[in-house]
Amino acid sequence: MPILIDGKKTSDQIKSEIAARVAEIRAEGGKIPHLAAVLVGNDGASQTYVGAKVKACEQVGFESTLVRLEDEVSEEELLKVVEDINQNPAIDGLIVQLPLPKHISVEKVTNKIKPEKDVDGFTPANVGRMTLGWPAYVAATPYGIVELLKRYKIETSGKHCVVIGRSHIVGSPMSILMARNDYPGNCTVTLTHSRTKNLPEITKAADILIVAIGKPEFVTADMVKEGAVVVDVGIHRIDDSTKKSGFRLIGDVKFEEVAAKASAITPVPGGVGPMTIASLLYNTLLAAERKVFQ
Ligand code: NAP
Repeated sequence: MPILIDGKKTSDQIKSEIAARVAEIRAEGGKIPHLAAVLVGNDGASQTYVGAKVKACEQVGFESTLVRLEDEVSEEELLKVVEDINQNPAIDGLIVQLPLPKHISVEKVTNKIKPEKDVDGFTPANVGRMTLGWPAYVAATPYGIVELLKRYKIETSGKHCVVIGRSHIVGSPMSILMARNDYPGNCTVTLTHSRTKNLPEITKAADILIVAIGKPEFVTADMVKEGAVVVDVGIHRIDDSTKKSGFRLIGDVKFEEVAAKASAITPVPGGVGPMTIASLLYNTLLAAERKVFQ
């Protein structure tokens, strides 16, 4: 049996570590971390995600502010809201939930967020700092994966890490983090995408396989080396009439057959997913304590 990399348990651990730090800050009379989330429109999934983030803030003792704006809000108005939060000394971290309505430029809004408050790690300043190996807010999903590898003491130095997917929020930053001169890191990294030829040949050479392709159960056992560490970022809802909810969640990896070959693997659900909120809380704590931009 492979080691099951438990993201739920790890994220609960991180949340209790953060809650303990908040209790210390409170006892010292210091500034309680404060996260502001901006939500535009009524998209169901976005409301759920933002709701979970605000609830997690409460759980660890942070303060939080949720700013809700109509779907029709103009780009200018949204930029003004972001700027007001940038200037508000009471707020340490700021996230703007994506996606945004089509008439609003994600680039303009992202670029408006003050890097010191960019706890999602999406601004060019933070991506650049991460790439240079400087202190930075690392985006939640890649940060969560790095933390899982670290807490499960997965050996990475000198290993061949193959990443499937080159999105700005997962695959690309993951490839940079795994190649850096640090732990986890020091891997020889291959970043693959939809134009990659002979993908199974490449994935079969991976000691560590990180899958962020967005295709249900794409990675099968014949694509994986015996003893590989497999990290499944994908998350898909599929109909399942045997479940009370009517659906179940699956990843980008065909779990049962790949688990039979892997030395360690993240499940879906309960792997990478739960780590994202813990990462956001951690970045907000860093922001409040001025640990990244000093
Ligand atoms: P994305 O933006 O859709 O990127 C998918 C990547 O996969 C692209 O780079 C694409 O290549 C590549 N790709 C597509 N078909 C391919 C193929 N046949 N062979 C090799 N590469 C291929 O996805 P994402 O935002 O990174 O998300 C990936 C998955 O992770 C999704 O299921 C998403 O829901 C999930 N996710 C989960 C979390 C979490 O917290 N667990 C967080 C974020 C995302 P091109 O660049 O050439 O198009």
